[in-house]
Amino acid sequence: MHYQSTRGHDLPQHFSDILLGGLAPDGGLYLPAEYPQLTAEELESWRELSYADLAFAVLSKFADDIPAADLQDITRRTYTGEVYSNGRAGDDASLITPLRTLGEEGGTELQLLGLSNGPTLAFKDMAMQLLGNLFEYTLAKSGDELNILGATSGDTGSAAEHAMRGKTGIRVIMLSPHGRMSSFQRAQMFSLQDDNIVNLAVEGNFDDCQDIVKAVSKDAPFKALHAVGTVNSINWARVVAQVVYYVHGWLLATDGPGQKVSFSVPSGNFGNVCAGHIARSMGLPIDQLVVATNENDVLDEFFRTGVYRPRSAAETHHTSSPSMDISKASNFERFLYDLVGQDATRLGELFRSLDEEGGFDLSGTPEFERISEFGFVSGRSTHADRVATIRDVHERYGVTIDPHTADGVTVARRHLREGVPMLVLETALPAKFAEIVREALGEEPERPEAFEGIEGLEQRFEIVPADVDRIKAIIAQHTGR
Ligand SMILES: *Cc1c(COP(=O)(O)O)cnc(C)c1O
Repeated sequence: MHYQSTRGHDLPQHFSDILLGGLAPDGGLYLPAEYPQLTAEELESWRELSYADLAFAVLSKFADDIPAADLQDITRRTYTGEVYSNGRAGDDASLITPLRTLGEEGGTELQLLGLSNGPTLAFKDMAMQLLGNLFEYTLAKSGDELNILGATSGDTGSAAEHAMRGKTGIRVIMLSPHGRMSSFQRAQMFSLQDDNIVNLAVEGNFDDCQDIVKAVSKDAPFKALHAVGTVNSINWARVVAQVVYYVHGWLLATDGPGQKVSFSVPSGNFGNVCAGHIARSMGLPIDQLVVATNENDVLDEFFRTGVYRPRSAAETHHTSSPSMDISKASNFERFLYDLVGQDATRLGELFRSLDEEGGFDLSGTPEFERISEFGFVSGRSTHADRVATIRDVHERYGVTIDPHTADGVTVARRHLREGVPMLVLETALPAKFAEIVREALGEEPERPEAFEGIEGLEQRFEIVPADVDRIKAIIAQHTGR
Protein backbone atom coordinates (compact mmCIF):
# COMPACT_ATOMS: atom_id res chain seq x y z
CA MET A 1 0.00 0.00 0.00
CA HIS A 2 1.51 3.28 -1.14
CA TYR A 3 0.50 6.73 0.04
CA GLN A 4 0.33 9.94 -1.93
CA SER A 5 -0.29 13.57 -1.10
CA THR A 6 -3.45 15.46 -2.02
CA ARG A 7 -1.16 18.04 -3.67
CA GLY A 8 0.33 15.56 -6.11
CA HIS A 9 3.49 14.44 -4.33
CA ASP A 10 3.91 10.73 -5.09
CA LEU A 11 6.89 9.23 -3.28
CA PRO A 12 6.40 5.58 -2.44
CA GLN A 13 5.58 6.08 1.24
CA HIS A 14 4.38 3.30 3.47
CA PHE A 15 2.16 3.46 6.54
CA SER A 16 5.12 3.50 8.94
CA ASP A 17 6.80 6.33 7.01
CA ILE A 18 3.87 8.67 7.47
CA LEU A 19 2.84 7.49 10.93
CA LEU A 20 4.86 10.06 12.87
CA GLY A 21 4.54 12.88 10.34
CA GLY A 22 1.88 15.50 9.78
CA LEU A 23 1.63 17.22 6.41
CA ALA A 24 3.28 15.78 3.31
CA PRO A 25 6.40 17.65 2.13
CA ASP A 26 4.33 19.57 -0.46
CA GLY A 27 1.89 20.77 2.20
CA GLY A 28 -0.85 18.27 1.29
CA LEU A 29 -2.43 15.48 3.29
CA TYR A 30 -1.60 11.82 2.85
CA LEU A 31 -4.07 9.40 1.31
CA PRO A 32 -3.59 5.84 0.08
CA ALA A 33 -2.97 5.61 -3.67
CA GLU A 34 -6.23 3.68 -3.80
CA TYR A 35 -8.80 2.62 -1.22
CA PRO A 36 -8.64 -1.10 -0.43
CA GLN A 37 -11.99 -2.76 -1.08
CA LEU A 38 -14.18 -4.77 1.29
CA THR A 39 -16.16 -7.60 -0.26
CA ALA A 40 -19.57 -8.68 0.99
CA GLU A 41 -18.21 -12.15 1.88
CA GLU A 42 -15.36 -10.61 3.82
CA LEU A 43 -17.73 -8.39 5.80
CA GLU A 44 -19.96 -11.36 6.60
CA SER A 45 -16.93 -13.33 7.81
CA TRP A 46 -16.15 -10.54 10.28
CA ARG A 47 -19.41 -10.76 12.23
CA GLU A 48 -17.96 -12.89 15.01
CA LEU A 49 -14.70 -10.99 15.46
CA SER A 50 -13.84 -9.10 18.63
CA TYR A 51 -13.34 -5.35 18.17
CA ALA A 52 -9.56 -5.83 18.45
CA ASP A 53 -9.49 -8.45 15.71
CA LEU A 54 -11.80 -6.42 13.51
CA ALA A 55 -9.40 -3.49 13.96
CA PHE A 56 -6.57 -5.79 12.92
CA ALA A 57 -8.49 -6.94 9.84
CA VAL A 58 -9.24 -3.37 8.72
CA LEU A 59 -5.86 -1.87 9.61
CA SER A 60 -3.86 -4.60 7.93
CA LYS A 61 -5.29 -3.36 4.62
CA PHE A 62 -3.63 0.01 5.20
CA ALA A 63 -0.56 -0.91 7.25
CA ASP A 64 0.73 -3.87 5.27
CA ASP A 65 4.33 -2.89 6.07
CA ILE A 66 3.85 -3.86 9.75
CA PRO A 67 4.24 -7.63 10.29
CA ALA A 68 0.79 -9.15 10.85
CA ALA A 69 1.63 -10.72 14.21
CA ASP A 70 2.93 -7.38 15.51
CA LEU A 71 -0.12 -5.47 14.29
CA GLN A 72 -2.48 -7.98 15.84
CA ASP A 73 -0.59 -7.79 19.11
CA ILE A 74 -0.95 -3.99 19.02
CA THR A 75 -4.71 -4.03 18.35
CA ARG A 76 -5.27 -6.66 21.04
CA ARG A 77 -3.39 -4.61 23.60
CA THR A 78 -5.26 -1.46 22.54
CA TYR A 79 -8.91 -2.48 22.29
CA THR A 80 -9.55 -4.22 25.59
CA GLY A 81 -12.67 -4.14 27.71
CA GLU A 82 -10.50 -2.82 30.50
CA VAL A 83 -9.44 0.31 28.57
CA TYR A 84 -12.85 0.89 26.96
CA SER A 85 -15.26 0.32 29.79
CA ASN A 86 -15.17 3.88 31.14
CA GLY A 87 -13.65 2.72 34.35
CA ARG A 88 -16.01 -0.22 34.96
CA ALA A 89 -13.85 -3.17 35.85
CA GLY A 90 -14.12 -6.18 33.59
CA ASP A 91 -13.18 -7.27 30.16
CA ASP A 92 -16.44 -7.33 28.24
CA ALA A 93 -15.39 -6.47 24.70
CA SER A 94 -18.97 -5.69 23.70
CA LEU A 95 -18.65 -2.50 25.74
CA ILE A 96 -16.03 -1.10 23.37
CA THR A 97 -18.45 0.48 20.87
CA PRO A 98 -21.92 -0.64 21.97
CA LEU A 99 -24.94 0.08 19.76
CA ARG A 100 -28.08 1.23 21.54
CA THR A 101 -31.47 1.69 19.90
CA LEU A 102 -33.22 4.86 21.01
CA GLY A 103 -36.48 4.11 19.20
CA GLU A 104 -38.51 4.10 16.01
CA GLU A 105 -38.65 7.43 14.24
CA GLY A 106 -39.49 8.25 10.64
CA GLY A 107 -40.02 4.61 9.75
CA THR A 108 -36.63 3.50 10.91
CA GLU A 109 -34.52 2.91 13.99
CA LEU A 110 -32.63 5.79 15.52
CA GLN A 111 -29.55 4.36 17.20
CA LEU A 112 -26.52 5.53 19.15
CA LEU A 113 -23.08 4.08 18.49
CA GLY A 114 -21.19 4.57 21.76
CA LEU A 115 -17.63 5.70 21.05
CA SER A 116 -16.94 7.36 24.39
CA ASN A 117 -16.07 4.54 26.74
CA GLY A 118 -12.30 5.13 26.72
CA PRO A 119 -10.23 6.74 29.47
CA THR A 120 -11.24 10.34 28.67
CA LEU A 121 -14.90 9.67 27.83
CA ALA A 122 -14.74 11.02 24.25
CA PHE A 123 -14.38 9.29 20.88
CA LYS A 124 -10.85 10.59 20.40
CA ASP A 125 -9.67 7.74 22.65
CA MET A 126 -10.68 5.28 19.91
CA ALA A 127 -7.81 6.40 17.67
CA MET A 128 -5.44 7.94 20.18
CA GLN A 129 -4.97 4.78 22.25
CA LEU A 130 -3.96 2.93 19.08
CA LEU A 131 -1.59 5.73 18.15
CA GLY A 132 0.14 5.47 21.53
CA ASN A 133 0.87 1.79 20.98
CA LEU A 134 1.84 2.26 17.30
CA PHE A 135 4.22 5.10 18.16
CA GLU A 136 5.88 3.14 20.95
CA TYR A 137 6.28 0.15 18.60
CA THR A 138 7.89 2.11 15.73
CA LEU A 139 10.10 4.20 18.02
CA ALA A 140 11.39 1.04 19.72
CA LYS A 141 12.36 -0.31 16.28
CA SER A 142 14.18 2.83 15.17
CA GLY A 143 15.62 3.70 18.59
CA ASP A 144 14.30 7.26 18.19
CA GLU A 145 12.36 9.33 20.65
CA LEU A 146 9.46 11.69 20.13
CA ASN A 147 8.40 14.79 21.98
CA ILE A 148 4.77 15.49 21.20
CA LEU A 149 3.99 19.18 21.44
CA GLY A 150 0.31 20.05 21.45
CA ALA A 151 -2.21 22.73 22.22
CA THR A 152 -5.60 21.80 23.61
CA SER A 153 -8.80 23.35 24.80
CA GLY A 154 -9.79 20.04 26.37
CA ASP A 155 -10.61 16.79 24.59
CA THR A 156 -7.61 16.20 22.31
CA GLY A 157 -5.00 16.98 24.94
CA SER A 158 -6.41 14.66 27.54
CA ALA A 159 -6.91 11.85 24.98
CA ALA A 160 -3.28 12.24 23.87
CA GLU A 161 -1.94 12.27 27.42
CA HIS A 162 -3.93 9.23 28.47
CA ALA A 163 -2.76 7.39 25.35
CA MET A 164 0.93 8.27 25.72
CA ARG A 165 1.37 8.11 29.50
CA GLY A 166 4.10 5.70 30.53
CA LYS A 167 5.10 4.95 26.92
CA THR A 168 8.80 4.40 26.26
CA GLY A 169 10.48 6.93 23.97
CA ILE A 170 7.57 9.37 24.05
CA ARG A 171 7.04 12.59 26.00
CA VAL A 172 3.97 14.82 25.78
CA ILE A 173 4.26 18.57 26.31
CA MET A 174 0.73 19.96 26.30
CA LEU A 175 -0.19 23.62 26.32
CA SER A 176 -3.62 24.62 27.59
CA PRO A 177 -5.13 28.03 28.30
CA HIS A 178 -4.70 28.72 32.02
CA GLY A 179 -8.02 28.91 33.83
CA ARG A 180 -10.15 28.32 30.71
CA MET A 181 -10.87 24.59 30.91
CA SER A 182 -13.58 23.03 33.02
CA SER A 183 -12.50 21.67 36.39
CA PHE A 184 -13.25 18.16 35.10
CA GLN A 185 -11.02 18.68 32.03
CA ARG A 186 -8.24 20.12 34.19
CA ALA A 187 -8.44 17.17 36.55
CA GLN A 188 -8.32 14.69 33.66
CA MET A 189 -5.05 16.14 32.43
CA PHE A 190 -3.32 17.61 35.45
CA SER A 191 -3.83 14.67 37.79
CA LEU A 192 -1.56 12.49 35.63
CA GLN A 193 1.65 11.94 37.57
CA ASP A 194 3.63 10.14 34.83
CA ASP A 195 7.13 11.50 34.23
CA ASN A 196 6.59 11.66 30.46
CA ILE A 197 3.56 13.96 30.71
CA VAL A 198 4.26 17.69 30.97
CA ASN A 199 1.31 20.05 31.40
CA LEU A 200 1.89 23.73 30.78
CA ALA A 201 -0.94 26.12 31.67
CA VAL A 202 -0.32 29.09 29.40
CA GLU A 203 -1.34 32.59 30.47
CA GLY A 204 -3.43 33.26 27.36
CA ASN A 205 -6.23 31.73 25.32
CA PHE A 206 -6.36 28.65 23.11
CA ASP A 207 -5.23 30.59 20.02
CA ASP A 208 -2.12 31.76 21.91
CA CYS A 209 -1.34 28.12 22.72
CA GLN A 210 -1.81 27.12 19.11
CA ASP A 211 0.38 29.99 17.87
CA ILE A 212 3.18 28.83 20.15
CA VAL A 213 2.97 25.29 18.77
CA LYS A 214 3.06 26.67 15.22
CA ALA A 215 6.05 28.92 16.00
CA VAL A 216 8.01 26.03 17.52
CA SER A 217 7.10 23.74 14.60
CA LYS A 218 8.32 26.34 12.11
CA ASP A 219 11.79 26.35 13.69
CA ALA A 220 13.03 23.31 11.76
CA PRO A 221 16.48 23.03 13.41
CA PHE A 222 14.95 23.20 16.90
CA LYS A 223 12.27 20.71 15.92
CA ALA A 224 14.85 18.25 14.59
CA LEU A 225 17.25 18.65 17.52
CA HIS A 226 14.52 17.99 20.08
CA ALA A 227 12.54 15.44 18.01
CA VAL A 228 9.38 17.51 18.27
CA GLY A 229 6.23 16.09 16.66
CA THR A 230 2.47 16.52 16.90
CA VAL A 231 -0.62 14.30 16.99
CA ASN A 232 -3.16 16.58 15.38
CA SER A 233 -6.29 15.42 13.65
CA ILE A 234 -4.71 15.18 10.17
CA ASN A 235 -2.62 12.24 11.34
CA TRP A 236 -3.45 9.44 8.92
CA ALA A 237 -3.34 6.66 11.50
CA ARG A 238 -5.95 8.49 13.58
CA VAL A 239 -8.28 8.72 10.60
CA VAL A 240 -7.84 5.09 9.63
CA ALA A 241 -8.34 3.83 13.20
CA GLN A 242 -11.76 5.50 13.04
CA VAL A 243 -12.74 3.53 9.93
CA VAL A 244 -12.95 0.47 12.19
CA TYR A 245 -15.97 1.62 14.18
CA TYR A 246 -17.96 2.43 11.04
CA VAL A 247 -17.45 -1.19 10.03
CA HIS A 248 -18.30 -2.35 13.55
CA GLY A 249 -21.41 -0.16 13.62
CA TRP A 250 -22.54 -1.58 10.28
CA LEU A 251 -21.99 -5.15 11.53
CA LEU A 252 -24.00 -4.47 14.69
CA ALA A 253 -26.89 -2.80 12.87
CA THR A 254 -27.34 -5.33 10.05
CA ASP A 255 -27.76 -9.07 9.76
CA GLY A 256 -26.92 -9.77 6.16
CA PRO A 257 -24.97 -8.59 3.10
CA GLY A 258 -25.75 -5.36 1.28
CA GLN A 259 -28.06 -3.83 3.92
CA LYS A 260 -27.55 -0.11 4.14
CA VAL A 261 -27.22 2.09 7.20
CA SER A 262 -26.62 5.83 7.61
CA PHE A 263 -24.33 7.58 10.07
CA SER A 264 -24.79 11.00 11.62
CA VAL A 265 -21.50 12.53 12.70
CA PRO A 266 -21.02 15.54 15.01
CA SER A 267 -18.27 17.30 13.08
CA GLY A 268 -15.51 19.82 13.69
CA ASN A 269 -12.23 19.05 11.96
CA PHE A 270 -13.92 16.55 9.63
CA GLY A 271 -11.67 13.74 10.92
CA ASN A 272 -14.46 11.51 12.15
CA VAL A 273 -16.74 11.81 9.12
CA CYS A 274 -13.71 11.56 6.79
CA ALA A 275 -13.24 8.06 8.20
CA GLY A 276 -16.88 7.38 7.27
CA HIS A 277 -16.20 8.60 3.74
CA ILE A 278 -13.24 6.24 3.53
CA ALA A 279 -15.30 3.31 4.85
CA ARG A 280 -17.96 4.06 2.21
CA SER A 281 -15.29 4.36 -0.50
CA MET A 282 -14.05 0.91 0.54
CA GLY A 283 -17.47 -0.49 -0.23
CA LEU A 284 -19.12 -0.53 3.21
CA PRO A 285 -22.86 -0.26 2.44
CA ILE A 286 -23.43 3.24 3.81
CA ASP A 287 -26.45 5.18 2.57
CA GLN A 288 -25.98 8.70 3.95
CA LEU A 289 -23.18 10.39 5.83
CA VAL A 290 -24.80 13.18 7.79
CA VAL A 291 -22.40 16.01 8.63
CA ALA A 292 -23.78 17.69 11.77
CA THR A 293 -22.27 21.04 12.71
CA ASN A 294 -23.06 23.48 15.49
CA GLU A 295 -23.23 27.27 14.96
CA ASN A 296 -19.81 26.98 13.33
CA ASP A 297 -21.42 25.88 10.10
CA VAL A 298 -18.72 26.18 7.41
CA LEU A 299 -19.17 22.54 6.41
CA ASP A 300 -22.97 22.68 6.41
CA GLU A 301 -22.81 25.74 4.17
CA PHE A 302 -20.53 23.87 1.76
CA PHE A 303 -22.63 20.72 1.53
CA ARG A 304 -25.81 22.74 1.03
CA THR A 305 -24.56 25.42 -1.35
CA GLY A 306 -21.13 24.51 -2.72
CA VAL A 307 -19.63 27.64 -1.15
CA TYR A 308 -16.61 26.94 1.03
CA ARG A 309 -15.67 29.86 3.21
CA PRO A 310 -13.63 29.03 6.32
CA ARG A 311 -13.98 31.57 9.11
CA SER A 312 -11.29 33.46 11.00
CA ALA A 313 -10.61 32.71 14.65
CA ALA A 314 -12.49 35.93 15.51
CA GLU A 315 -15.57 34.74 13.58
CA THR A 316 -15.59 31.38 15.35
CA HIS A 317 -18.40 31.05 17.88
CA HIS A 318 -17.78 29.68 21.37
CA THR A 319 -20.62 27.22 21.74
CA SER A 320 -21.95 24.66 24.17
CA SER A 321 -20.57 21.89 21.92
CA PRO A 322 -17.04 23.31 22.18
CA SER A 323 -15.14 20.42 20.59
CA MET A 324 -16.80 21.37 17.29
CA ASP A 325 -15.82 25.05 17.47
CA ILE A 326 -13.59 24.87 14.43
CA SER A 327 -13.14 27.57 11.79
CA LYS A 328 -11.22 25.56 9.21
CA ALA A 329 -11.71 21.80 9.12
CA SER A 330 -8.22 20.36 8.69
CA ASN A 331 -9.28 17.00 7.19
CA PHE A 332 -11.70 18.45 4.65
CA GLU A 333 -8.96 18.50 2.00
CA ARG A 334 -9.00 14.69 1.98
CA PHE A 335 -12.63 14.63 0.85
CA LEU A 336 -12.18 17.51 -1.60
CA TYR A 337 -9.41 15.56 -3.29
CA ASP A 338 -11.79 12.69 -3.96
CA LEU A 339 -14.57 15.07 -4.94
CA VAL A 340 -12.42 16.62 -7.70
CA GLY A 341 -11.57 13.13 -8.99
CA GLN A 342 -8.15 12.97 -7.26
CA ASP A 343 -6.91 15.74 -9.53
CA ALA A 344 -4.13 17.44 -7.55
CA THR A 345 -3.88 20.29 -10.08
CA ARG A 346 -7.57 21.12 -9.72
CA LEU A 347 -7.26 20.91 -5.94
CA GLY A 348 -4.27 23.26 -6.11
CA GLU A 349 -6.48 25.79 -7.97
CA LEU A 350 -9.13 25.59 -5.27
CA PHE A 351 -6.56 26.17 -2.56
CA ARG A 352 -5.18 29.13 -4.45
CA SER A 353 -8.61 30.79 -4.36
CA LEU A 354 -8.78 29.87 -0.72
CA ASP A 355 -5.51 31.70 -0.06
CA GLU A 356 -6.24 34.64 -2.33
CA GLU A 357 -9.97 35.14 -1.93
CA GLY A 358 -10.70 33.39 1.35
CA GLY A 359 -12.88 30.69 -0.20
CA PHE A 360 -14.26 29.08 -3.33
CA ASP A 361 -17.64 28.31 -4.87
CA LEU A 362 -18.38 24.96 -6.50
CA SER A 363 -22.09 25.62 -7.03
CA GLY A 364 -23.20 24.74 -10.54
CA THR A 365 -20.04 22.70 -11.25
CA PRO A 366 -20.15 18.99 -12.19
CA GLU A 367 -18.10 18.41 -9.04
CA PHE A 368 -20.82 19.78 -6.81
CA GLU A 369 -23.40 17.70 -8.68
CA ARG A 370 -21.44 14.61 -7.62
CA ILE A 371 -21.75 15.28 -3.87
CA SER A 372 -24.85 13.09 -3.58
CA GLU A 373 -22.88 10.18 -5.08
CA PHE A 374 -20.68 10.39 -1.99
CA GLY A 375 -23.71 10.15 0.29
CA PHE A 376 -23.06 13.44 2.06
CA VAL A 377 -25.86 15.54 3.52
CA SER A 378 -25.59 18.08 6.30
CA GLY A 379 -27.26 20.28 8.85
CA ARG A 380 -26.63 22.82 11.56
CA SER A 381 -27.69 22.78 15.17
CA THR A 382 -27.80 25.56 17.76
CA HIS A 383 -27.65 25.83 21.52
CA ALA A 384 -31.46 25.83 21.69
CA ASP A 385 -31.55 22.68 19.51
CA ARG A 386 -29.04 20.94 21.79
CA VAL A 387 -31.00 21.76 24.93
CA ALA A 388 -34.28 20.65 23.33
CA THR A 389 -32.76 17.43 21.98
CA ILE A 390 -31.05 16.50 25.26
CA ARG A 391 -34.39 17.01 27.00
CA ASP A 392 -36.41 15.15 24.37
CA VAL A 393 -34.10 12.12 24.17
CA HIS A 394 -34.08 11.96 27.96
CA GLU A 395 -37.87 12.15 28.22
CA ARG A 396 -38.67 9.77 25.38
CA TYR A 397 -35.94 7.19 25.78
CA GLY A 398 -34.49 7.72 29.26
CA VAL A 399 -31.02 8.30 27.81
CA THR A 400 -28.84 11.31 28.62
CA ILE A 401 -26.63 12.46 25.74
CA ASP A 402 -23.82 15.01 25.59
CA PRO A 403 -24.17 18.28 23.61
CA HIS A 404 -22.06 17.08 20.62
CA THR A 405 -24.10 13.91 20.31
CA ALA A 406 -27.20 16.11 20.61
CA ASP A 407 -26.07 18.03 17.50
CA GLY A 408 -25.77 14.65 15.77
CA VAL A 409 -29.28 13.57 16.82
CA THR A 410 -30.82 16.96 15.93
CA VAL A 411 -29.48 16.86 12.37
CA ALA A 412 -30.00 13.09 11.92
CA ARG A 413 -33.73 13.57 12.52
CA ARG A 414 -33.95 15.78 9.42
CA HIS A 415 -32.50 13.06 7.21
CA LEU A 416 -34.24 9.85 8.30
CA ARG A 417 -35.15 7.46 5.49
CA GLU A 418 -37.65 4.67 5.88
CA GLY A 419 -36.03 1.31 6.53
CA VAL A 420 -32.47 2.64 6.74
CA PRO A 421 -31.16 2.53 10.33
CA MET A 422 -29.65 5.86 11.39
CA LEU A 423 -26.61 5.49 13.64
CA VAL A 424 -25.67 8.66 15.49
CA LEU A 425 -22.07 8.59 16.66
CA GLU A 426 -21.95 9.34 20.38
CA THR A 427 -18.75 11.40 20.57
CA ALA A 428 -18.62 12.12 24.31
CA LEU A 429 -20.34 11.17 27.55
CA PRO A 430 -22.55 13.80 29.18
CA ALA A 431 -20.43 13.71 32.35
CA LYS A 432 -17.87 15.84 30.51
CA PHE A 433 -20.37 18.63 29.81
CA ALA A 434 -22.41 18.93 32.97
CA GLU A 435 -23.44 22.56 32.50
CA ILE A 436 -25.73 22.11 29.48
CA VAL A 437 -27.13 18.89 30.94
CA ARG A 438 -28.12 20.82 34.07
CA GLU A 439 -29.72 23.47 31.86
CA ALA A 440 -31.69 20.88 29.88
CA LEU A 441 -32.66 18.44 32.63
CA GLY A 442 -32.21 20.30 35.88
CA GLU A 443 -30.01 17.49 37.15
CA GLU A 444 -26.40 16.36 37.08
CA PRO A 445 -25.31 13.88 34.41
CA GLU A 446 -24.33 10.50 35.74
CA ARG A 447 -20.59 10.15 36.16
CA PRO A 448 -18.84 6.78 35.71
CA GLU A 449 -17.68 5.56 39.10
CA ALA A 450 -13.97 5.75 38.32
CA PHE A 451 -14.36 9.51 37.76
CA GLU A 452 -16.03 10.34 41.07
CA GLY A 453 -14.14 13.10 42.81
CA ILE A 454 -11.30 13.38 40.29
CA GLU A 455 -11.27 17.15 40.87
CA GLY A 456 -9.85 16.42 44.32
CA LEU A 457 -6.80 14.49 43.07
CA GLU A 458 -3.36 16.02 43.36
CA GLN A 459 -2.51 18.05 40.24
CA ARG A 460 0.81 18.58 38.53
CA PHE A 461 1.22 21.48 36.08
CA GLU A 462 3.29 24.59 35.53
CA ILE A 463 1.87 28.05 34.81
CA VAL A 464 3.88 29.74 32.06
CA PRO A 465 3.68 33.01 30.11
CA ALA A 466 2.53 32.89 26.46
CA ASP A 467 6.10 33.15 25.28
CA VAL A 468 7.69 30.98 22.58
CA ASP A 469 11.24 31.21 23.93
CA ARG A 470 10.13 30.23 27.41
CA ILE A 471 8.33 27.14 26.00
CA LYS A 472 11.39 26.24 23.92
CA ALA A 473 13.56 26.47 27.03
CA ILE A 474 11.22 24.12 28.88
CA ILE A 475 11.33 21.61 26.00
CA ALA A 476 15.13 21.79 25.92
CA GLN A 477 15.27 21.28 29.67
CA HIS A 478 13.23 18.09 29.33
CA THR A 479 15.12 16.64 26.36
CA GLY A 480 18.49 17.63 27.83
CA ARG A 481 19.83 18.58 24.39
C1 LIG B 1 -13.28 16.23 18.39
C2 LIG B 1 -14.72 16.09 18.69
C3 LIG B 1 -15.71 16.24 17.70
C4 LIG B 1 -15.39 16.60 16.27
O1 LIG B 1 -14.72 15.58 15.59
P1 LIG B 1 -13.89 15.90 14.25
O2 LIG B 1 -13.16 14.66 13.93
O3 LIG B 1 -12.97 17.04 14.61
O4 LIG B 1 -14.88 16.29 13.20
C5 LIG B 1 -17.04 16.03 18.06
N1 LIG B 1 -17.38 15.74 19.34
C6 LIG B 1 -16.46 15.60 20.32
C7 LIG B 1 -16.92 15.29 21.70
C8 LIG B 1 -15.10 15.77 20.03
O5 LIG B 1 -14.19 15.66 21.02
